[in-house]
Amino acid sequence: MDWSTRLQATGSRQRQEAFPPSRFTALRRALRVDPKAYARSRNHLDGAVTALSPYVTHGLLPADELFDLWRRRLGLCLKDKLLGELAWREFFHHVWYHRGEAILQDLRPGLPGVRYQQSLPEDVRRAATGVPVIDATVRRLYQTGWLHNHQRMWLASYVVHLRKVHWRVGADWMYGHLLDGDLASNHLSWQWVAGTFSHKPYLFNADNVARYAPRLDSRGTAIDRGYAELMAIARSCIDVGPERDTPPPTAEPALYERPPAEPDLEGDPAYVDAWTAVIHPWSLEARVPGLRQIGLLHADFHRRFPWSARRWDFVLRRMRQICEAVYYGDLATLASCLAPPERLLAVMTLNPGYREGLALSVRGCLAPLPTALPELDAAQPSYSRWVKEQCRRNPSLC
Ligand SMILES: Cc1cc2nc3c(=O)[nH]c(=O)nc-3n(C[C@H](O)[C@H](O)[C@H](O)COP(=O)(O)OP(=O)(O)OC[C@H]3O[C@@H](n4cnc5c(N)ncnc54)[C@H](O)[C@@H]3O)c2cc1C
Repeated sequence: MDWSTRLQATGSRQRQEAFPPSRFTALRRALRVDPKAYARSRNHLDGAVTALSPYVTHGLLPADELFDLWRRRLGLCLKDKLLGELAWREFFHHVWYHRGEAILQDLRPGLPGVRYQQSLPEDVRRAATGVPVIDATVRRLYQTGWLHNHQRMWLASYVVHLRKVHWRVGADWMYGHLLDGDLASNHLSWQWVAGTFSHKPYLFNADNVARYAPRLDSRGTAIDRGYAELMAIARSCIDVGPERDTPPPTAEPALYERPPAEPDLEGDPAYVDAWTAVIHPWSLEARVPGLRQIGLLHADFHRRFPWSARRWDFVLRRMRQICEAVYYGDLATLASCLAPPERLLAVMTLNPGYREGLALSVRGCLAPLPTALPELDAAQPSYSRWVKEQCRRNPSLC
């Protein structure tokens, strides 16, 4: 059964098991990939994609390890689609590293003169636009927390260009419901679609959907237009609105700033004068035998970027597997209660609040970001320039 079918299958048991928080599952998926089938079919909704993103995002299978695995085991280079797509993630993180929280704002001016709404229309939020591909995508997002890349692009393009919603509003909403939500990949992709991180807006139409997702045929709706007409709408202030015929609305799942299943998580860690690994939601791989591992959740970050119950469950279940205890509060304060700073170790992350908290409190060993390719001193303006520079430094990559 392909991933698309598996994820669309109804029945909560199957849905829950699509992404068990297990490193074994991640490694098995990574090793079973067929790069030729991937290159051929990745744009199709039922294509041979890996469904690895929740594992990569949370560090169960860090991007550098996955990159090396595919390079060495499969002999791939950046020209191969599979590695090339993983490299997009690397590039987004390169931009995040250099620009920090600026990635959450327009990186360059968008379409001139267009006014965007600052809230998401109810019909989009409730999967009741009447455009089959959009409604199915929103329902799938709520039911599984995972979307095929094409579905993410279509949804973002519809929300921004046809419904005139500011990309940041859409990006925050989608991030909250994704199991693999990654601020760089998500917010920069929304900017790429909007045209504030690319040279032109990304547009799609019903023919494009019919080709890659025939089951979600959306002909006869607002997206059934030629590209010139779509571009004219994108450049105007027109919100095409919902269709005349709309399906019954679906309920949007709640988002939580703390794990809903463990509301009492609080911070009074036991102080021990021993080497202690600080585990955060993006470093869920680590398991060093004999080392004390403690999970820390930084409340400020989660207040700003609340998560679905499904994502909290994924993260907490994994933390419970590898940590002695898990605490919620201010990261730097919690860390100072664990052990002397020179006995703390952790893996760096760029997530706001976590980044600063770790830099402040961890003195023993703060492992660098798990990037697959060396960080470049100068920020590169585009993916192609970034790849070119990486290949100039290491020709074997290309
Ligand atoms: C609007 C929008 C929002 C997105 N938000 C996220 C997000 O929050 N988190 C996230 O991990 N990805 C995001 N992506 C990128 C991409 O859609 C997903 O990484 C991919 O669909 C995950 O499925 P997969 O694991 O089967 O990917 P595969 O195609 O099997 O690729 C393997 C791995 O490479 C990486 N990757 C592949 N394509 C991309 C890409 N275009 N950009 C960045 N990394 C990529 C992922 O880590 C992925 O797991 C977004 C894309 C768009 C257009």
